[in-house]
Amino acid sequence: MDGSTHRLFAASVSIATSTATGAPLWQAAASAVIGTASAAGWTSPDADQSWLHWVPGGHRGLTHWWGIPALLSVAVLVFVPPEAAWALWALILGWASHLLADFIFGERPPGIPMAPWWSYAGLGLNSGGGAEKWLRWGLPTFITWQALVLITGGDYLFGWDPPVLST
Ligand SMILES: [Zn+2]
Repeated sequence: MDGSTHRLFAASVSIATSTATGAPLWQAAASAVIGTASAAGWTSPDADQSWLHWVPGGHRGLTHWWGIPALLSVAVLVFVPPEAAWALWALILGWASHLLADFIFGERPPGIPMAPWWSYAGLGLNSGGGAEKWLRWGLPTFITWQALVLITGGDYLFGWDPPVLST
């Protein structure tokens, strides 16, 4: 999957999570930005193509193992006070969204490692193929709708009633 699609997917997952958890708007916006940072490029699992090229398994090796965000999540739950944890959750969510996307679109070997850097599983869809192109062009529209739902508190979820500005 292309970096821009990874970032769009992370933003979408982040906004959905913020909406579901009722995060304040500023935190939802900051989380979406943080999530896009850990979803692509040198701060993402694909750092195994640059400064983390030495990690076991090479590209889509150890950095793409689901156990890393799982272990980090446990560490955050145990060590970080809940009110201070949101930025870390945003980072973990961006990273995990990358793994989910590679599970769906990664090829040769398909998907991501189920064990630290072996035993691959995934749907093996063509990275850069028709489904990803559709996602890359469809996601901005979907994210706009998600942002409207987030900002208006869901008024746009069940119809196109304008938000109530004064009572
Ligand atoms: Zn990747």
